[in-house]
Amino acid sequence: MNIFLHRDDLRTHDNRGLKKASENGETVPVYIDDPRIRKNTGRNKKAFRKKGLKQLDSRYRRNRSQLHYRKGKTKGELEKIIGENNVEKIFYNRSYTPLKRKIEAEIEELDVETHGFQDRLLVEPGELSKEYGTFSPFYREWKKIKKSKPAERPENFAENPEISEKIPGKEASADIPEAGEEAGLKRWKDFRDNRLEKYRDRRDEIARPNSVSRLSMYYSSGMLGLRKVLEDVENLIDRDEDSSRIRNYAKYRNELAWREFFYQVLWHNPGTVEENYRNFENAVEWQNSQEELEAWKEGRTGVPFVDAGMRELLESGYMHNRTRQNVASFLTKHLMIDWREGARFFRKHLVDHDTASNIGGWQWAASTGTDSVSIRIFNPVKQGRKYDSEAEYIKHWIPELRGLDPDSIHNWVEMSQEERNKYDLDYPDPIINFNQRYHVGKKMFENALGR
Ligand SMILES: Cc1cc2nc3c(=O)[nH]c(=O)nc-3n(C[C@H](O)[C@H](O)[C@H](O)COP(=O)(O)OP(=O)(O)OC[C@H]3O[C@@H](n4cnc5c(N)ncnc54)[C@H](O)[C@@H]3O)c2cc1C
Repeated sequence: MNIFLHRDDLRTHDNRGLKKASENGETVPVYIDDPRIRKNTGRNKKAFRKKGLKQLDSRYRRNRSQLHYRKGKTKGELEKIIGENNVEKIFYNRSYTPLKRKIEAEIEELDVETHGFQDRLLVEPGELSKEYGTFSPFYREWKKIKKSKPAERPENFAENPEISEKIPGKEASADIPEAGEEAGLKRWKDFRDNRLEKYRDRRDEIARPNSVSRLSMYYSSGMLGLRKVLEDVENLIDRDEDSSRIRNYAKYRNELAWREFFYQVLWHNPGTVEENYRNFENAVEWQNSQEELEAWKEGRTGVPFVDAGMRELLESGYMHNRTRQNVASFLTKHLMIDWREGARFFRKHLVDHDTASNIGGWQWAASTGTDSVSIRIFNPVKQGRKYDSEAEYIKHWIPELRGLDPDSIHNWVEMSQEERNKYDLDYPDPIINFNQRYHVGKKMFENALGR
């Protein structure tokens, strides 16, 4: 028999490694819950994955098979399975983060034939002519590279050898979406048929939760095939004649490429999981105030747009990209707290946590990464006014502010103490002098850059 090892690919559709395994003979699907990965996974993502594993198991059971779940170090568990069964070959899809590459190297040491496949990325870093440090040139080449077609769903599964443990459940701390490939495909089709044609125009309408696809958690746990999505997007681009709609479809392809860009950066620079991507002349002198960090984590900084984002994260395990950028910039520039604190907190709460995008996004927003602007400081007051003009998003996540009109909410940081006192709300005053901190934060980066 052959083993297909599910990793970040909890699906049977458009799964290249699984398809290859089943073409090679009867396949036993296995998932190994490795403690090294578990340690780096937050509660919401764990819960989402566990639900996804159960869905995957049900799908296999409909084909008279099952998903074999084991807990332990990947190589050790595979050795046990090989020792007890007649395993000829092991198939898996490649991953690109340092820890998962390490685990892959261990799999390759096993005493059976092993085969790794490209699946998690449309274009692997090695397919590009060189390493890219900024997105635009990366995208120009990425777009030209021919991508594979979606893999067909296989059916050749072995009936049950006795190798499975029971898949455990896990409670989330947030209200997380439905998991599994059926949920992923359903959400994609709904987005594709109803909202993709306006994606570029509406993606920053932050108060409308469905202005974006909210598929990141399905991509992150591999519950939705990328080739399937890209094929649909490119068919729309080729067949539609309306240039405005085409621009909207193309923007979605561009966003998928951001994900691939950050994987490419991490693959070439595995140390950036912990280290700055950018070389500074002097060390960045982070201030790391514990009190300010706690206020940021709790969504109680007194800057409504930032707090709304953080509360969205705490309650739903998700945050809109616009607020991710703002809360990250605020933590690193206004509060002058090390980006690694923020990245760890995101990892703890995000259902869609993905090492490459998280580290890439944090370093980009902290100006330690790949942003082509040298020191970018978001102004969360202006951003709130622009992208949430009626303060609907803010009011949704901060009930204490629901009684205020949008102007007063956006002015909260700038109004006098006396005015704020008049409202007598259970919502904090800004924890910092907002305008002064902008300059202090900027100076901290200028010093690091030796200016
Ligand atoms: C500080 C910070 C941390 C982040 N951490 C993560 C993370 O852990 N996991 C994660 O998937 N994304 C992360 N992102 C990227 C982005 O915010 C999310 O991918 C996006 O908000 C997910 O929502 P969506 O699926 O509705 O996106 P859509 O707007 O519908 O975009 C479609 C898909 O494109 C990809 N994508 C879009 N924008 C980006 C981007 N800027 N970087 C990388 N991929 C992108 C995602 O796979 C996303 O699902 C982070 C961004 C920042 C600024």
